[in-house]
Amino acid sequence: MQESVMQAWWDSSHMAGANAPYIEEMYEAYLDDPQGVSQEWREVFDKLPKVDGVELDTNHTLIKDKFRTLAAMGPLSRVGVSASSAGSNTHSDEKQVKVLQLINAYRFRGHQHANLDPLGLWQQERVRDLELSHHNLSESEFDSVFNVGSYAIGKESMPLGDLFKSLNRTYCGSVGAEYMHITDTEQKRWLQQKIESVEAKPEISKEKKVAILKGLIAADGMEKYLGSKFPGAKRFSLEGGDSLIPMLKGLIHEAGEVGTKEVVIGMAHRGRLNVLVNVLGKNPSVLFDEFSGKHDESLGAGDVKYHAGFSSDFATAGGNVHLALAFNPSHLEIVNPVVMGSVRARMARREYNSGNVLPITIHGDSAIAGQGVVQETFNMSQTRGFAVGGTVRIVVNNQVGFTTSKTEDTRSTQYCTDIAKMVQAPIFHVNSDDPEAVLFVTKLALEYRNKFKRDVVIDLVCYRRHGHNEADEPNATQPLMYQKIKKHPVPRALYADQLIAEGVISDREVDKYVDEYRAALDHGACVVEEWRPMTEHSVDWRPYLGHDWDVPYDGSISVTELKGLGRKLVTFPEDVKLQSRVNKLYQDRKAMIEGEKPLDWGMAENLAYATVVNGGNPIRLVGQDSGRGTFFHRHAVIHNQTDGSTYMPLQHISDNQGTMEIYDSVLSEEAVMAFEYGYATAEPSCLTIWEAQFGDFANGAQVVFDQFLSSGEAKWGRLCGLAVLLPHGYEGQGPEHSSARLERFLQLCADHNWQVCIPSTPAQVFNMIRRQIVRPMRKPLVVMSPKSLLRHPLAVSSLEELSEGVFHNVIGEVDDLDAKKVKRVVMCSGKVYYDLLEQRRKNEQTDVAIIRLEQLYPFPQEECAKVVAQYSHVKDWVWCQEEPQNQGAWYCSQHHFWQAIPEGATLTYAGREASASPAVGYVSVHNQQQKALVEDALTIK
Ligand code: AMP
Repeated sequence: MQESVMQAWWDSSHMAGANAPYIEEMYEAYLDDPQGVSQEWREVFDKLPKVDGVELDTNHTLIKDKFRTLAAMGPLSRVGVSASSAGSNTHSDEKQVKVLQLINAYRFRGHQHANLDPLGLWQQERVRDLELSHHNLSESEFDSVFNVGSYAIGKESMPLGDLFKSLNRTYCGSVGAEYMHITDTEQKRWLQQKIESVEAKPEISKEKKVAILKGLIAADGMEKYLGSKFPGAKRFSLEGGDSLIPMLKGLIHEAGEVGTKEVVIGMAHRGRLNVLVNVLGKNPSVLFDEFSGKHDESLGAGDVKYHAGFSSDFATAGGNVHLALAFNPSHLEIVNPVVMGSVRARMARREYNSGNVLPITIHGDSAIAGQGVVQETFNMSQTRGFAVGGTVRIVVNNQVGFTTSKTEDTRSTQYCTDIAKMVQAPIFHVNSDDPEAVLFVTKLALEYRNKFKRDVVIDLVCYRRHGHNEADEPNATQPLMYQKIKKHPVPRALYADQLIAEGVISDREVDKYVDEYRAALDHGACVVEEWRPMTEHSVDWRPYLGHDWDVPYDGSISVTELKGLGRKLVTFPEDVKLQSRVNKLYQDRKAMIEGEKPLDWGMAENLAYATVVNGGNPIRLVGQDSGRGTFFHRHAVIHNQTDGSTYMPLQHISDNQGTMEIYDSVLSEEAVMAFEYGYATAEPSCLTIWEAQFGDFANGAQVVFDQFLSSGEAKWGRLCGLAVLLPHGYEGQGPEHSSARLERFLQLCADHNWQVCIPSTPAQVFNMIRRQIVRPMRKPLVVMSPKSLLRHPLAVSSLEELSEGVFHNVIGEVDDLDAKKVKRVVMCSGKVYYDLLEQRRKNEQTDVAIIRLEQLYPFPQEECAKVVAQYSHVKDWVWCQEEPQNQGAWYCSQHHFWQAIPEGATLTYAGREASASPAVGYVSVHNQQQKALVEDALTIK
């Protein structure tokens, strides 16, 4: 190849250094057999060493380095490098290279000239790389035959004119394929093969065409029906994005054919009613009843119809596929990690990573670009703890977010889907008015996901026929767009005309399908032919239904069994070398299990997990640095000092044990917590735990606490046994790492929606963990978990206390006080108990009793009454807390405290003054405050 040609390659604007591995591969092939590569490359390889002054066969590495450096320095083309490239004699080598550059330009930037907007309103910038003249080519050369390199059209060479037309059909039609950002050569080649071989427009059978038309008729028919029966009612119509219906049905059919057994779908409200009826087979009469105001009384608080989930089975050529549409709050995009967590749980039940559970998430165009949780889920998509074998992500891109449509207002990227490039996901933009193109990219996306186990995005470019909801007036904010929409034919009509023109179907048949669909709605019958009653899902939730938190259970376990399990926890293969501090800790644990030392927190917690997996239940513990534990206390995952490998004693408890998974999570709270919520709502037998690094980190997941964890059962009847561990306690670490914001959780308490616990001893944490899974009840557990108590000399327990199997919701006085002489009773929770106890012992006081409330919600009135009974003569009751007065339990739980104390007694507050900040930033001030509040609680006035 000539120097000038090399120069031209360097000058090309869209070549990337990422081609280096490919060139290296080719160089390897050249070394094996110089005839195995094209003449042009042979010439390059022949010449290059001389440039370096190095003999070809003596310094292979240096030559590879040379290429690597060149590739890293500047753009380097890989086009026109097929092994069979012949180097035509009909034109100069330079022209040939230009042709190959033209192909590459279309691969890189063809999507920018694709016909994607059904309304034709998109302003497309001129892309000179897609013009012949940019490559020094012209129409006058259309008859010249060029080698097409790796262009996967199935021909080695083509006349320039044919090639140019083919490139335009392939890359600038109804599909805009973006995939050249992928660095993996295999994936890129695979995609090129799939797209170019059919010019992005494969043949479609008549049968499939009719199925697409029926899908569009259903999508349109459903909205028209609702619009006429319930005018003005909010339904968040799909109209304009009608292709979503044949698309989803096509996707499920294709997935079923290749062995998918379950599909979990997440979507916001736009088009949801349509999907419920036309894909999942929800009975239309049930939906119409909901529009008329009827509802299922058993569902508690309930939710609006466009947030509803649904489950059904769907018949495909490969067997029935179970469909689950996840319930969804209005908070956009948050359902995506929930769906992924649910999928991961289902995958764990089935053959892991076989691709037989498919997540589909449906996004809005403004939301996918705007909501940070989307980035979090992309970041999680390939990680050990959260991978789900790839998600098919569909953007219903109606080009408006509520009333905002100017892209300079909605995002800073060219496409709303650009965020997907962070994981190098292929992105297929597609004009939704071309439903055959939509089906093509849908199948391609599924194949890609199944083959490479990675995320893939379909940007369904459409429009929204009405306002944000049907009562809104869209002309107020989008006048030009809506003038256009008003005149734009509906997708059903456009496609019916196409099929009539193709002779596939007659207009009478079209009318017949439309009438049939409407008649089915009139009858209120299921309109999805493929609908089947549920048999494919594998969890029976009935044993968990109808229990409250105080359901009786037997959690006891013998000391002998505990010792047996404990010994397994402290046994390692010989080649596992522990770090010296960890070794010391494990030596202590050995002594604890032999009864030579009292048990500490870390040991009790690990023992609890051992009993759970030994009983056959799986455990999934996920959080920031959870393997070791933020506070160096857990050490459930041991890092071998010899080779850096890890060993988890909890995975070696017994042959039939439940699986034990502990993952250090990605550094996110919102998506991770939502993922675990999704996991726990799909798998009741698994003890699922999310741990925050510090309790206040849970703030980042507030939407998940509000919209899902606290209210999911009330709104949707969905049980969830997720436990969240939130380190909490005032140790003078400043405003950020003291408080897990107990008050926020207490404020959300009602209807026995979850449990809020503050265990104060290792035995309590042991039994709290066991209670959560041994009981048949599944409700979320919010734990204010300790920090300094992890090593507090008084916070210890015996094996006997663990073996009792009871979590004490209230713990009465532990010192030998004469109840009759008690003049004041202090009630408290958490770490402050030990401050009070130590100070009282120091003071040698016998007239103040201390009661610990270990569960603040549901408030344990009965147990409390039993403990309080012996102090019925006491009039002076105090609630003591470390948190400022406006925080902690004082305001939110006070009504329970008043109810608990004897009639006529007074209840006063001992704690910090109200404060805007959770804690002071100075240790000295903290110490003063702590001393004062303890004194205040213990001093009888
Ligand atoms: P799914 O596999 O999510 O489609 O659920 C199938 C059926 O199981 C649902 O229709 C519910 O009856 C039941 N179910 C699923 N998840 C829960 C849950 N978290 N709580 C109670 N019942 C559930």
